[in-house]
Amino acid sequence: LAAKLNKAPTEVIKVLMGYGVMAAVNQSIDFDTASIVCEEFGVTCELEDENQAMDDLFDTHYQNEDELVKRPPIITVMGHVDHGKTSLLDAIRHTNVISGEAGGITQHIGAYTIMIKDEKITFIDTPGHEAFTAMRSRGASVTDIAVLVVAADDGVMPQTVEAINHAKDAGVPIIVAVNKIDKPGANPDKVKQELTEYGLVSEDWGGDTICVNISAKKREGIEELLEMILLVAEVEDLKAHPTKKAIGTVIEARLDKQKGTVATLLVKSGVLHDGDIVVCNDVFGKVRAMMDDKGNKVKVAGPSTAIEILGFNEVPGAGEKFFVAENERDGRKYAERRKAIMKENALKKSGPVSLDDLFNQISEGELKELKLIVKADVRGSLEALSQSLEKLNDNDEGVRVSVIHGGVGAIAESDVALAAASNALIIAFNVRPDANAKAMAMKEEVEIRSYNVIYHVMEEIEKALKGLLDPEF
Ligand code: GDP
Repeated sequence: LAAKLNKAPTEVIKVLMGYGVMAAVNQSIDFDTASIVCEEFGVTCELEDENQAMDDLFDTHYQNEDELVKRPPIITVMGHVDHGKTSLLDAIRHTNVISGEAGGITQHIGAYTIMIKDEKITFIDTPGHEAFTAMRSRGASVTDIAVLVVAADDGVMPQTVEAINHAKDAGVPIIVAVNKIDKPGANPDKVKQELTEYGLVSEDWGGDTICVNISAKKREGIEELLEMILLVAEVEDLKAHPTKKAIGTVIEARLDKQKGTVATLLVKSGVLHDGDIVVCNDVFGKVRAMMDDKGNKVKVAGPSTAIEILGFNEVPGAGEKFFVAENERDGRKYAERRKAIMKENALKKSGPVSLDDLFNQISEGELKELKLIVKADVRGSLEALSQSLEKLNDNDEGVRVSVIHGGVGAIAESDVALAAASNALIIAFNVRPDANAKAMAMKEEVEIRSYNVIYHVMEEIEKALKGLLDPEF
């Protein structure tokens, strides 16, 4: 601070002492203290918004529209357990061996790219909405299109609904893959019928949801599915900068005994070069080696490409955004500052985000939508609750209530993950969180509010919207 103010450290310390803060020369002080000191010197100081700075950096890639080029779509496969997500990813991987390429079978690095009709498509190789949601809760919107796998012999199941709600909340278009059509009991029409209940109306039924019948096992319909993905990607008009320093997301990262930190990065825009200084929140490093999804050593990686790199000083978090720094000194400086800020925030943390917090945001006009996840013991209560809550929007308070996900049964980790990713509150009606969900809610600072009378739910939410909420102790 002294350096920034162009003052001797002793002068700053003297001011601090005047306010009763006995600071040593290398001690951190918080923003409020710093602004008081600055005021004494006639200087105004502003809090730098790190997230904003990062968003701005990402935005610079897309500023000059005429410089942008088309980039391949990035796909996540979602759906209920055992409906064939892994089988579909395998089928896609194997049927699309790029001709002439040695081996061609992909290594598992967390994502892979295939070629179809001279166009590329990149798949996130961890199926399910858990990874999708984890990444979103760190602020990364990695997925361009979600492929929803529904088994034709089983139909829409709880996790199918979860996946639909996750994709919808993220604003990601959905393509439905009706799988296992080779099975004797397969009934694709029944699946389409069930999907209409969740707002997904198939094209052949007059809606705008693309549904493709496939058999991941017999590898039928895969090509058609891929073509449909390209079609939707075309409409989405996905662009990236072809030459700027890379920006993107960490897909996976781990510590390897021999190699050190191994991380898979997905380049969103720009180009990553061997030797670049990559910064990812509080970790950084010089790219020592880059390997593509076929296990080949590469020197550069362009938009929508996944590469495994060595060189980070520590293991970065999956879903964290990365960028390339000018030089090692800048990279280190940024990472160290982030580390200090995170440490300070961790000390400041005071319990979960609660209805009170959300209410405060509402009254300050910061929150325009109160997102809720409703879990209930029986279907009847769930429907009654959801309908009553949505009805609150009829008398306009300026803040919308939206039930982004509803389900019957105990609160699970996936509910908490969705709440964390979308800044939602969980309403528990005659149900409890399971042990894992409870632990996760503590960690992710998600509030679960329990009720056993519908009237009480309505009363509290209404109060929150109107700003009359009593704090809950
Ligand atoms: P995930 O849990 O969604 O990843 O599902 P899996 O890909 O592991 O598949 C679950 C089971 O369904 C496995 O036994 C697969 O062999 C089987 N399966 C997947 N796709 C098909 C298919 O198209 N037809 C048939 N008959 N079985 C399939």
